[in-house]
Amino acid sequence: MTEESYDVIVIGAASAGLTSALYLARQALKVLVISKDIGGQALLTDDIQNYPGFMKISGFELMNKFQEQAAAYGAEFEYDEVTHVEKKDDGSFKVRTTLKEFHSMSLILAFGKTPRNLNVPGEELLRGRGVSYCAVCDGPLFKKSDIAVVGIGEHVLQAAVYLSGLASTLHVIYRGSRIPEDDELYSQLKKRDNVRFYFNSTVREIKGEISVDSIIVSGNAPGSHEEEIPVRGLFIEMGYIAKTDFVKDLVELNKNKEIITDKLGRTSTEGVFAAGDVTDMPYKQAVISAGQGATAALSAYNYIQARLGRAAVSTDWKSVKIRVPEP
Ligand SMILES: Cc1cc2nc3c(=O)[nH]c(=O)nc-3n(C[C@H](O)[C@H](O)[C@H](O)COP(=O)(O)OP(=O)(O)OC[C@H]3O[C@@H](n4cnc5c(N)ncnc54)[C@H](O)[C@@H]3O)c2cc1C
Repeated sequence: MTEESYDVIVIGAASAGLTSALYLARQALKVLVISKDIGGQALLTDDIQNYPGFMKISGFELMNKFQEQAAAYGAEFEYDEVTHVEKKDDGSFKVRTTLKEFHSMSLILAFGKTPRNLNVPGEELLRGRGVSYCAVCDGPLFKKSDIAVVGIGEHVLQAAVYLSGLASTLHVIYRGSRIPEDDELYSQLKKRDNVRFYFNSTVREIKGEISVDSIIVSGNAPGSHEEEIPVRGLFIEMGYIAKTDFVKDLVELNKNKEIITDKLGRTSTEGVFAAGDVTDMPYKQAVISAGQGATAALSAYNYIQARLGRAAVSTDWKSVKIRVPEP
């Protein structure tokens, strides 16, 4: 094994990936977690109320606790994006990031879901310069400014409630034709003087050179009247998709491009396991991702044990010495 070889590489460091890493590290495996960030989608909310053990906790705090625990048992971390994965002739795996290459005996794919793009002119150019996909993360940058949010459904209403507490004026560009009158979030928004709704509408273009100056809004139907609205920021809340193109030749996907797994977290390729929102599990929740992460880890461990001719485990009940992280 070279220095950059591991027993298991986990791609993604949120509920699923961090739980996998914890379980693998406790089995004394050499584990590397490669991720673009720590926490994933949970970072987008400061109010998780259904994670057992916590009446209420921010996603950031919960994910930090997950990472601390995985690191304390010896999991290693690399902050980068994985761009390519392949299975080699000897059954091991090569994982390429934007900067490096790593090798492992087994893989756990836990890279979740990513915000869907709006796909309009100006979006790429102005991303991070007024165009944001995370109201909770970036909202405070736009205090007392005129801003807009575009999307449909629960996500856009949640973001709008939060943003309307910060903005001078909030324009809600709603892609649907109506919201039920008894919707709790909609009722809150209707009471706020600084919120303007545009139903059955979408953003056609985001304008600005250095940062966002305005948006072009029109009805959903092609050829509808267009209106230019001056704003400093646009929040895009179009839902989330599994960006699995880089593993499409490695594992079987369903029609939503989610990775198909069995109840042990096994994918169509031996040695590759998957967990969390990136899989075809229809329920997308932090606690479910964590449970799937633990399952995938035990399956990966047993896969390696079998390859080495050793006995399988079905639990993780032993007391393991913590490797305390350095201050
Ligand atoms: C606004 C919002 C509020 C929510 N509220 C709740 C709630 O109250 N309770 C609840 O249970 N759930 C909630 N959820 C859902 C919960 O956050 C997700 O189910 C959970 O985060 C899924 O975890 P995951 O590990 O499967 O993937 P994700 O959280 O999607 O994390 C994926 C990880 O993979 C990384 N990654 C992605 N692609 C790559 C790549 N190519 N290379 C390297 N790394 C990569 C990402 O950076 C990230 O770290 C909420 C979600 C949102 C968006």
